[in-house]
Amino acid sequence: MTTFSKCKSCQNQFFGNYCNLCGEKIIEEKDFSMRSIVGQAVGAITNLDSKLLRSIKLLFFYPGKLSMAFVEGIRVPYMKPFQLFVLANVFFFIFLSDIDIFRTPAKWFFSEWYDGIQVLNYVRDIAEKQNLTHEEIAIMYDAKSSELAKGLVILLVPIIALIGQLLNWRSKMAYGKHIIFAIHFFSFLLGLLVIWFALLKFVRPYLDFEQYWNIVPVIFLSWIYYSISTKRFYGGSWPMAILKGGLGIFLINFFVHLYRVGINLYTLNNL
Ligand SMILES: [Zn+2]
Repeated sequence: MTTFSKCKSCQNQFFGNYCNLCGEKIIEEKDFSMRSIVGQAVGAITNLDSKLLRSIKLLFFYPGKLSMAFVEGIRVPYMKPFQLFVLANVFFFIFLSDIDIFRTPAKWFFSEWYDGIQVLNYVRDIAEKQNLTHEEIAIMYDAKSSELAKGLVILLVPIIALIGQLLNWRSKMAYGKHIIFAIHFFSFLLGLLVIWFALLKFVRPYLDFEQYWNIVPVIFLSWIYYSISTKRFYGGSWPMAILKGGLGIFLINFFVHLYRVGINLYTLNNL
């Protein structure tokens, strides 16, 4: 005989041990035993661990498979896309906050040119007006721009999703699916950047990060990755997937560049 229960969280009537509407579990006295409490604590940590490890494994070694699984409804074994993205962000901004990708640090930006105006001259004007030194302006700029670059980076997700939709418009997929794909790609990219720059730092202790070629292997690898995941997630032929990969990475690069310029200029104008 199955027993009929009323959910304590949402008042739904259901059969079984878990509410079919909100997932609430029926609590029994034995759930409060020492053994159960310890088991829950261990489970919370190891479960998160295994979900994380499983997701990372798929993300890095099977391009597109994690998005595929999530869209097809295999969700329990993996971390939620946004969780993974937040984690990738934290990881990225802890290790690479000073890299010229989502903003340009003052030490480089203050000598660049925009629309025929040298930033350095502009900085000199601000310093004079606010009666601050160049170094103080640089510190202010670095603090504000890194906050902004971190806080707004999620804006790139809908843009990357739109690029996926544009390149695969014939798939007629819902925009939400492109979002999943974009989040996973972006999380991979952030992870790849961290690994790549860690490697570079290890190989060359006195690395000059402003050299553009440093990023070329990352672009090449992400092209391969984007092509394979496109093939897996959207289908189609290999030549098309490779072409879409190239176009996709080019467009993503372009928008990341726009984002960086936007962050730099906005921060400079609001010091
Ligand atoms: Zn319920």
